[in-house]
Amino acid sequence: MNFEIKNNLIDTAKIIKSPNHSERSCAIDLIVIHCISLPEGNFLNSNVMDLFQNKLDCNKHPSFKNLEDLKVSAHLFIRRNGEIIQFVPFDKCAWHAGESSFNDRGNCNNFSIGIELEGTVQKEFTDKQYEVLNPVILKLKEEYKINHVVGHSDIAPDRKIDPGPHFDWERLND
Ligand SMILES: [Zn+2]
Repeated sequence: MNFEIKNNLIDTAKIIKSPNHSERSCAIDLIVIHCISLPEGNFLNSNVMDLFQNKLDCNKHPSFKNLEDLKVSAHLFIRRNGEIIQFVPFDKCAWHAGESSFNDRGNCNNFSIGIELEGTVQKEFTDKQYEVLNPVILKLKEEYKINHVVGHSDIAPDRKIDPGPHFDWERLND
């Protein structure tokens, strides 16, 4: 996969801006892997993009009721077919982790990059997703001197279980 990071954006990504971001107050040190699909397990729609732009119609599905007024985002969303969508430039803080802690540091959003894989904790991820995720992580590590890659469940274990048991950590670089 051939791509560069220019102005804190992946140059081959589709850019959809999310208003749900803020300034960082420290250096990036961490990548957080998540998974999401809306409704869960349903992949062929724009609901996640709508959610990250605060324009999801929460009457569309009963499971969306608890998403009302939620202001969230991630830097990247990697779809089942390997398409990358970027919502927030890497130098800004995306709102993906919520209440969280890594190595005794709270508010992980401030020092992390959030990557959402289109998926569910119930299901394998696609080969295409790993084929995209690996070079993206490599490039982010070299560009931003990142030392750690964790799952959302590692930094918010009481609240979150994503990316879940079907995410294969062995398939990540080293
Ligand atoms: Zn998550």
